[in-house]
Amino acid sequence: MKQLLTLILSSTILVTMNAQTLKGNHWTAKSVEGAYIVSIEDRASILGALTDFITSQKIQAGQITGIGATNEATLRFFDPSSKKYVDKTFNEQMEISNLSGNISEAEGKLLLHLHITLGRKDYTALAGHLLDAKIRGAGEFFVYPINSKVFKVKNEDVGLYFYDFAHQ
Ligand code: FE
Repeated sequence: MKQLLTLILSSTILVTMNAQTLKGNHWTAKSVEGAYIVSIEDRASILGALTDFITSQKIQAGQITGIGATNEATLRFFDPSSKKYVDKTFNEQMEISNLSGNISEAEGKLLLHLHITLGRKDYTALAGHLLDAKIRGAGEFFVYPINSKVFKVKNEDVGLYFYDFAHQ
């Protein structure tokens, strides 16, 4: 009886866990205790897959972290004097030693603010604001949604989007 009960409980847990396995455009994910574990496919765009994942799950705000590998990454460096980003693409195999970022909304659209640190073959590191990168190897991400909207508004003096906590 106890064995049967254990079996039924195990099956129920398994079915529940399988029901939480999610799939989208170049990603698969699993929802665990309010967080999401997201796997981005080999050769897929990180920004494209994360945007698809976040939109499909209707996540409005939260935090993202990730590790993996890439062979094409475009980093941005913000120059406050010109109020513009300078972009540079690196076409080489690199470890994503850390990606960290946040999810918010600006001008009625989803805004992902992502930064990345990349490890080169000679073990030196590159870092910057991430425009986009292609996974080459694994892409392992954790997304922690919060149950609230978070707004950003462009500060024209600085040229960047800042949190707007007064926004209703
Ligand atoms: Fe940035």
